[in-house]
This record gives sequence, structure tokens and C-alpha cells, in this order.
Amino acid sequence: MFPECLRYTKTQANFWKELAWNQTVGHAQEWLALHFATVEPYEGMHAFVDKRPARVSELRTKLARGEGDYLHGPPLRSCGNCGEAGMPTQFRYCGRCGAPLPTEPEAGSRAPS
Ligand SMILES: [Zn+2]
Repeated sequence: MFPECLRYTKTQANFWKELAWNQTVGHAQEWLALHFATVEPYEGMHAFVDKRPARVSELRTKLARGEGDYLHGPPLRSCGNCGEAGMPTQFRYCGRCGAPLPTEPEAGSRAPS
């Protein structure tokens, strides 16, 4: 339990963990930057904070129905009043001007790329 020996032993014992971490941390950083703003981590973090199980089957059902990986639906709505586009399909009012949105996405509209 000498401090220097303990420190060196921990360094040796963690060698493989540190090797794997250092080899993948760059990729993990890129992956998190791309995926952390999606519904799955949103639900997971909120479930953790709320101390409840994550609603995994609800997310999978939404994906199976083709509703995509969006919190409030794919960004297919646009406002006929102000011209704002790319609002989620579950939004009932424009997020920019507050005008009511049509109940169904406009024909030919698509998610912004
Ligand atoms: Zn508007």
C-alpha cells in the first residue's frame, strides 16, 4: 500500500484498458458528436435523470413506423404565413411566427439535407 507502488500497480493493471481507450477515443468523439443529439440518447439521459426505465420499445416502434429518429417527427412542415421550413411534423404552430400549421405535411416537402 505504499503510494508510489500502488500508483505504478494501477498503471500496469490498467494498461489494456488505456490501450483500447487511446486507440478508440478519436472515433468515439466523432461518433458522439454525430449521434448524441438524436432521440435515443435524449430518452436515455432523461430516463436516467427521471430515475425510470428508458422507453426503448416506444422508440423502436416509432422507427418501425418510419417516423425516423426525431423527437417531434421529421422536419417536413413549413409555414404558409412566414415561409419557415423544416419544422417537425408534430408541431401544430409555427415556431417562428406562431401561425397554425396545416395538419398534414405539404405534398412534395422533404427533410432538409
Ligand atoms: Zn410562420
